[in-house]
Amino acid sequence: MAIIELRGIKRYYVVGDIIVKALRGLDLDVEKGEFLAIMGPSGSGKSTLMNTLGCLDKPTEGSYILDGVETTKASPDEFADIRNEKIGFVFQGFNLLSRTSAIENVELPLFYDRSGKKNNPRERAIATLKEVGLGARLDHKPNQLSGGQQQRVAIARAMVNDPAFILADEPTGNLDTEMTLEIMTLFQELNNRGKTVIMVTHEPDIAVYCRRIITMRDGAMVSDEQVAEDRHASDDLEIWRKKNEHLSQGERT
Ligand code: ADP
Ligand code: MG
Repeated sequence: MAIIELRGIKRYYVVGDIIVKALRGLDLDVEKGEFLAIMGPSGSGKSTLMNTLGCLDKPTEGSYILDGVETTKASPDEFADIRNEKIGFVFQGFNLLSRTSAIENVELPLFYDRSGKKNNPRERAIATLKEVGLGARLDHKPNQLSGGQQQRVAIARAMVNDPAFILADEPTGNLDTEMTLEIMTLFQELNNRGKTVIMVTHEPDIAVYCRRIITMRDGAMVSDEQVAEDRHASDDLEIWRKKNEHLSQGERT
C-alpha cells in the first residue's frame, strides 16, 4: 500500500482579484521505502507541495491519504497530531535549538508525542544519534558541531518518532561539497534500511542520489522518473576526498 496518496490536489491562493493556481490537480503515490526528489523551477509549486505533504497546509480541493488516513478531513488538532506522528522534517537551515545539546534537540519531538507510546526519550535519542553517526557527540551544542554534523542532529530529530516518512527541504543547501556528500550518504543508508525519504532540491547533482525524481512546472507534475543509475554518494565522497586531500585540515567524522 502507498503511504502517500494524493488525488486531484489543487491549491489556489486568492491574492486580491487574482487566483494563483499553485497546484492544479496533482496525483501522486509514494510507496514505503521510496527515496523521492521533487524538482522544478522557482514558482513551480514545490513549497506548496511540500506544505501539503507535510500537513502544514490543506489543499483547496482533493484527497491526501497518509498511512491510510484521509488528512483533508482531519480537525485542526488531528491534523497537528498527524503531522507530529507521521512526518519528520529536515530543513535547509537545520533549525536546532542553539543552547541545547544534541541529545536534548533529538528528544524534543518525543515530549510533544501524545500517543504515550514513546517512553525512554533519552535512550531513544541516544540510539538515534548513534544511527546517524554522532554517538561521540551526544552532549555537543550546535555551535560545537560542523554544519554537516548539525544536519545529522536534525535528521536524528526527524527520525526519533519513527515517522512514516522524512520530508527534507533543500537539506544540503547550506553545506559545502564534502558535507553535502556526507549527508546524501546518510540519506542513502537510511533509505537502504527502509526509511522513506522525500526531498526538495534545486540541484540535479543531488537528485541523482535519490531513486525517483518528479519535476514540477506551473503547478503540475511534468515528469516522474525512476533514476536509472545506482549512484552511491559514499563513492563520490571518497573520490572527492582523495582529490582534495591537500586541502583538508580539520577533523572528519
Ligand atoms: P516553488 O517552491 O516551486 O518556488 P511555490 O509553491 O512557493 O513554488 O509557489 C507556487 C506559486 O504559488 C507561485 O506562483 C507563488 O507566487 C504562489 N504562492 C505561493 N505561496 C503563496 C501565498 N501564500 N499567497 C499567494 N501566492 C502564493
Ligand atoms: Mg519554494
